[in-house]
Amino acid sequence: MTTSKKTLRTCEKGHKFYKSSDCPTCPTCEQERKPESGFLSLLSAPARRALENKGITTLEDLAIYSEKEILQFHGMGQASLPKLRAALEEKGLSFRN
Ligand SMILES: [Zn+2]
Repeated sequence: MTTSKKTLRTCEKGHKFYKSSDCPTCPTCEQERKPESGFLSLLSAPARRALENKGITTLEDLAIYSEKEILQFHGMGQASLPKLRAALEEKGLSFRN
């Protein structure tokens, strides 16, 4: 049996956290982790997850949907729509009509 005593660690950003395993992943950093693609990083975490749950990770994926459909995703709110619309427009894309 291995003892899983939790030890206090500090990540490179200075977050303090307790971990029992050898995994050095900081939970705070993990939560703050920004996705690669820009538009997802504009969103709140629930809205981002709503898109990711649908496999939407790029603006091209997003453009397949209409605004109405996007709003029906669990976690997606009205407040996210203008951000998404602007991100699409930047790429010359738009929501499906
Ligand atoms: Zn951290």
